[in-house]
Amino acid sequence: MSIINKFIKNNINDPYILVCTSKSQMLFCKDILDKKDIDNDLIPTPKGFGGVCTTAIKFDKRDLQDIKNIVRYNKIKTEGIYPFSKKYKYNLKEIYNDNLSQKFIDIIKKIEAGVDLSKEDIVYLLKAKDKEYNSLIKTADIVRKECVGDRIELRAAIEFSNYCKKDCNYCGVRKSNTTSRYRMEEKAILKKVDELYKIGIKTVILQSGEDLYYTTEKILSIVRKIKEKYRMGITLSIGERDHKEYKLFSKEGVDNYLLKIETANKELFERIHPDDKYDERVKHHRLIKEAGIRVGSGGMIGLPGQTLENIAQDILFQRDFGIHMIGFGPFLPAKGTPYEREKSGELEMTLKVVAITRIVCQHVFLPATTAIASLHPEGQTLALKAGANTIMLISTPPNLRENYEIYSNKNMVDLSFAIESTRDAGRKMPKYLNYDYIKDMGYDIEDSLI
Ligand code: SAM
Repeated sequence: MSIINKFIKNNINDPYILVCTSKSQMLFCKDILDKKDIDNDLIPTPKGFGGVCTTAIKFDKRDLQDIKNIVRYNKIKTEGIYPFSKKYKYNLKEIYNDNLSQKFIDIIKKIEAGVDLSKEDIVYLLKAKDKEYNSLIKTADIVRKECVGDRIELRAAIEFSNYCKKDCNYCGVRKSNTTSRYRMEEKAILKKVDELYKIGIKTVILQSGEDLYYTTEKILSIVRKIKEKYRMGITLSIGERDHKEYKLFSKEGVDNYLLKIETANKELFERIHPDDKYDERVKHHRLIKEAGIRVGSGGMIGLPGQTLENIAQDILFQRDFGIHMIGFGPFLPAKGTPYEREKSGELEMTLKVVAITRIVCQHVFLPATTAIASLHPEGQTLALKAGANTIMLISTPPNLRENYEIYSNKNMVDLSFAIESTRDAGRKMPKYLNYDYIKDMGYDIEDSLI
């Protein structure tokens, strides 16, 4: 079996899910199953069985009795054990009025029945035009509303270093690019986190190039201080690290790790990443997940040489790998890189990918990415209307953010921009923000948005 199949395909044909009451109980249980060689996988808890940010253990019906015994004997605290087939069913009746092709109707029926879409179905949807394009977006919007509701999730990224040891062909902060380099020290990062805490942000994303100046200890120290003082959720996005580091990060309370697959096609992946191996990237996804950290992945749409089949494979990777947060954005050419003169990914294609990802992966976080907001002034609003539910603020200090130019003409999505996109998409801001403080800061936000 190839490494990819070994990592993605478990021997689970008649799936059941076990939902534990906490992450520690879930990891405790998973550890026992692994030791007993019982096939299992970690997946985002499906709609109806738990919150969007929780993780369930998937296993095969043949092991049901053994697992019940293990749960009882080890006093594992669970919410329940459920057959996967009982998962939430969507009502897409209104889509049938759209006068669609038989193939499209068959796909809608599959979605309603909870049957997995095939690669061929996804390629068909990626070709949707005019009326069928509108129906695709509408379907994703219905699924989004049922899964995660109307409130957006707002996260904030501090891009704390643009040093990078790698030379990815598309990336503006690649090692060989002549760009002015910076690093933020712990104190400066914490100062920024303090500002985010005051406005009520619940999850901070710490992102950088692959910069080993930030040793395990340095990262752990920052994580520890954020957890102690602010109790905020933490997403790390610092590239591939050692498996022991993922475990330490998890122990210290790192909640999510954003490491995109970029493309799930091995050949294309290795063409755009001269320093990376596809199988290694997949392995890192697995290691992060097994350390008990939720994985953020996703990729770029419109990469030079990418086909519709490749994109369908990218979407299926997210589903089959049980990814919690899936960021798809257009490829955008960056000055000074080998791909400087390549064409940007297309808006409509990126929106179709967001929509299909919502339909296929369902109960997950889907960002309306900074890249789509950079491609088109209405890109973020349109992505929110096509199934996305998350916005990431750029919270790097203003004097540094211009140097974190992973692609040219980046939209520095700030709170005003996020409020505007949310309003234009007819959605609501998160409940948890500190609106009195935000209004005092001079932001224009009407009560109907809150
Ligand atoms: N170094 C870490 C890593 O590789 O995961 C995190 C930072 S990396 C610069 C963040 C993301 O930027 C990548 O995952 C990639 O998807 C995106 N990115 C970089 N260059 C891009 C480009 N030219 N167009 C679109 N997205 C790009």
